[in-house]
Amino acid sequence: MKHDPTMSVPCETLYTRDMILPIDYADIVAASERLDGVALCTPVLSNAEANARSGAELFFKCENLQRIGAFKFRGAYNALARFDAEARRGGVLTYSSGNHAQAIALAARLLGMPALIVMPKDAPAIKIAVTRRHGAEIVLYDRYTEDREALGSRLAAERGMTLIPPYDHPDVMAGQGTAAKELFEEVGPLDVLLVCVGGGGLISGCAVSAAALSPQCRVIGVEPQAGNDVQQSLRTGERVRIDVPQTIADGAQTQSPGLLTFEVIRHRVSNIVTVSDEALVRSMRFFVEQMKIVVEPTGCLGAAAALEGLVPIAGKRVGIVLSGGNVDAQRLAALLTTEA
Ligand SMILES: *Cc1c(COP(=O)(O)O)cnc(C)c1O
Repeated sequence: MKHDPTMSVPCETLYTRDMILPIDYADIVAASERLDGVALCTPVLSNAEANARSGAELFFKCENLQRIGAFKFRGAYNALARFDAEARRGGVLTYSSGNHAQAIALAARLLGMPALIVMPKDAPAIKIAVTRRHGAEIVLYDRYTEDREALGSRLAAERGMTLIPPYDHPDVMAGQGTAAKELFEEVGPLDVLLVCVGGGGLISGCAVSAAALSPQCRVIGVEPQAGNDVQQSLRTGERVRIDVPQTIADGAQTQSPGLLTFEVIRHRVSNIVTVSDEALVRSMRFFVEQMKIVVEPTGCLGAAAALEGLVPIAGKRVGIVLSGGNVDAQRLAALLTTEA
């Protein structure tokens, strides 16, 4: 299928000031206080070659350098830090394609509570191994035939654990929003913020930060071309469910936006664009060769949109969240040496 960058959502979202959304900026400020001294305030990188290619001034927020190698530590720790004494004793359960699992495992260990993780059998080996190393118990499932949410709920009930889903939870969304808060606090207002989109936890938190700290900033989500469930949902105004997408962006293989995340996306996100797997590979190579950093395929979504001219950003100040860097060395080598 040929990629058509004009396949974007036509509507411009209106900002309505007094709207009630699942989270507001005060939740993000509270999250950043909980994360202070626990999560890293990751660096913001600039690069002359990236600016030349895009014709814009790009600011890369390096969440690939966050603890566990992805922004997901922010939301996970924020959620677990809010557990009461009884919930802490019972512990936490989650399902995840990987980074959220690691994040929950580490946050649970730091807070001294048990963690059980339901993970797909075909998750990258490094993600399964690291999750286990953080001391979490792991139950594997088949993502093409089993329903992880049903399995997760059943196990949580059986064991008296609290389920923290990977994106559709206010504390998770608020935690993720601290990434954009830090970015705006460091570089000031921006014209555009590009954020990769799986289930929408990261972009919903970041969009709430943007509305508070840089109200003129357009927040644009970026999805893999094969899995544009959120783009379709924004277009139709209702949550669209798709088949499990086949893409190298394993952190964005979600089938539909969350109930809560979609509420925020509908009101705070201007547009969603999509990028091909080939564009993700070219961007990964750009980061290794030009910027000397490893960014996993999903983490390249926002950057690929900017570097490949898929969003109109000429002359603008543009923030890009590099969401994660967890990719096996072997897989990285294979991806970097394929034709793209
Ligand atoms: C989870 C994840 C995403 C998608 O985040 P959502 O909150 O589900 O939209 C993007 N990139 C990486 C590296 C992730 O781990």
